Amino acid sequence: MLKPIRRVACSPALAACQQMMQRFALWLCDPATTGALISQQGLQPPVLASAIEANWLWGFLQRVDAGQSLLSRAQTVAAMPPAQKADMAVWIQTVSALVTQFQPAPNQWPINRPVASELGWRAFKALMEAFYEKGFRSGLPYLPNGTPTAAGGVSYAEYVSAFRSEHRLSLSPHAREVCVLCGGPLGDTPHVDHWIIKSAFPLLSVCADNLQLICNTCNEAPNKGDKPVHSKGSFADWFHPYLRPGNGALQLDYVLPELSVRCAATTPADQSKAGNLDGLLNLSSRWTREFKAEYASHQDVLIRREKRRIQSGQPRHTAVEILSYVQQWQADLAASEPHYEVRQALATALQEPSRLAAWHSELNLV
Ligand SMILES: [Zn+2]
Repeated sequence: MLKPIRRVACSPALAACQQMMQRFALWLCDPATTGALISQQGLQPPVLASAIEANWLWGFLQRVDAGQSLLSRAQTVAAMPPAQKADMAVWIQTVSALVTQFQPAPNQWPINRPVASELGWRAFKALMEAFYEKGFRSGLPYLPNGTPTAAGGVSYAEYVSAFRSEHRLSLSPHAREVCVLCGGPLGDTPHVDHWIIKSAFPLLSVCADNLQLICNTCNEAPNKGDKPVHSKGSFADWFHPYLRPGNGALQLDYVLPELSVRCAATTPADQSKAGNLDGLLNLSSRWTREFKAEYASHQDVLIRREKRRIQSGQPRHTAVEILSYVQQWQADLAASEPHYEVRQALATALQEPSRLAAWHSELNLV
């Protein structure tokens, strides 16, 4: 969110998979669909859009998850009573229309799972999550542009690689990568995040609009974890990585004299969205830690320089020299490096006369 987030070249393959999942799920919830109809022949068009997808799906359904075949999960869904199927179908339609949540006057987003038996919901959830856990890992039946293919379709590893290269901020292959959400280092073990959690919304497990690669600190509790990204079914006060991006709408406000940073919005209209994002990711406290650590690091540099001057009998640092040090450091900051925004905020804060004077007096070594 602090950085621009873009769909990647293979996003159409994920969108095509999302369409297939929606079509398959709605067919399973059709009152006329029974378990006996779920076969390689039974999945052919017009049930699915193409023979390639039908054949891929049939192979996928043979896979086993937690001791049960995915086919048996699909049969459990197809065996639900008509009223439960109808309720599930409404839920599928609403969740599939995620994009309308970010348009005027959206329908209420379902905050509870559809009314289904525990068995029916568990089977549906396992089946839909398997599209991500198993289908995506080994390869979807789509080329990057979304065209069905019988072999060599887009996989999880390809998506991760495409996301990384699309969001690289430096041309150097050795440069540190930056997390699109927090602006910190992406790190060695980034996570594919489901913006809307897949345990509650398994239908969105391979949705291009629901996936992004972020640092593990952003993704794990006590930060994002399993927290909702809406307020009781309303997305009105929330940014969304693709459908209501936060980059450009966020700014870092520093607070003197406590040397802290706050996640704020550039316009009052976005203040609640910035507040919710901050609550989700604890950006203010994480940015403040970085702000203070960076300050301590520069303070240490100047103190050591000052000591060397004292030892060699040179004149002490003047306030003008400290200001010059900060200005040069600021001019050298690279926008492609992690924590660029935090460091810019620190450089600006340190040039405030009161802060500069405080820093100068901290160098008053004996
Ligand atoms: Zn992050």
